Amino acid sequence: MPFLYAPRLAGKARPLSGYLAQGYKTLGQILCVEPPRIIAFLVSDEDWNRAPRDNTRPYPPGLPYFTRSVEPPALILPEELSTVFRPRTAATLPLTVWHELAHAFLLGREVVRTPAWFGEFVAQAASAAVARRVGLPLEGHLSRIEREPGFTVRGFRGPAGAEDQMSFQNLLLLLGVAALEEFGEGFLQGVFHALWEEDEIVDGERAEELLGDSLGQGGREWLESRPEFQEDPL
Ligand SMILES: [Zn+2]
Repeated sequence: MPFLYAPRLAGKARPLSGYLAQGYKTLGQILCVEPPRIIAFLVSDEDWNRAPRDNTRPYPPGLPYFTRSVEPPALILPEELSTVFRPRTAATLPLTVWHELAHAFLLGREVVRTPAWFGEFVAQAASAAVARRVGLPLEGHLSRIEREPGFTVRGFRGPAGAEDQMSFQNLLLLLGVAALEEFGEGFLQGVFHALWEEDEIVDGERAEELLGDSLGQGGREWLESRPEFQEDPL
């Protein structure tokens, strides 16, 4: 996967280049698919407003994203992660890179609309699955996550502030890790392929069915039992 950056960013590019290569290869293995043809750019603060993106308005600085507005589609990584990313541990940057890569893999084929929690869950769970495969410990990172932010992943409603968005993502990470521990990583392949085959908009109920069934035996019951997944906080 090509990775481009300005020469003065070489120091910052080095670890990122490793995370990209690990994620690209490992996601291909986990999902049993040919990785999509994509490119990654490390963009400096002063060039941020000129980076390719889907909308005309520049995006907030420091937030990585994936865009199909260029060919090949591109992963845009900022020089410095925004301070909204928390907790800040050795796992923050690799998890963030793998999250965006997972979006890129999913969007490598046509996908119907899904509830926000579902698309983001898939990216968070896939990112955690890469961490497991490459031996990046997540305990320290997970232990610093606020488990009761006052909403659940299904109860979360946008538009929300950056802090709540982060709490939402962190709840999904907890749910993803719990699913991996309970069912192993095989469900990810099932979810990705199910989404690629789906040809009607996936509503909340259908998303729950797809995920529960992909998890395997007892998946639906397990999902319904999870605190992160309730309609409202317990
Ligand atoms: Zn995302």
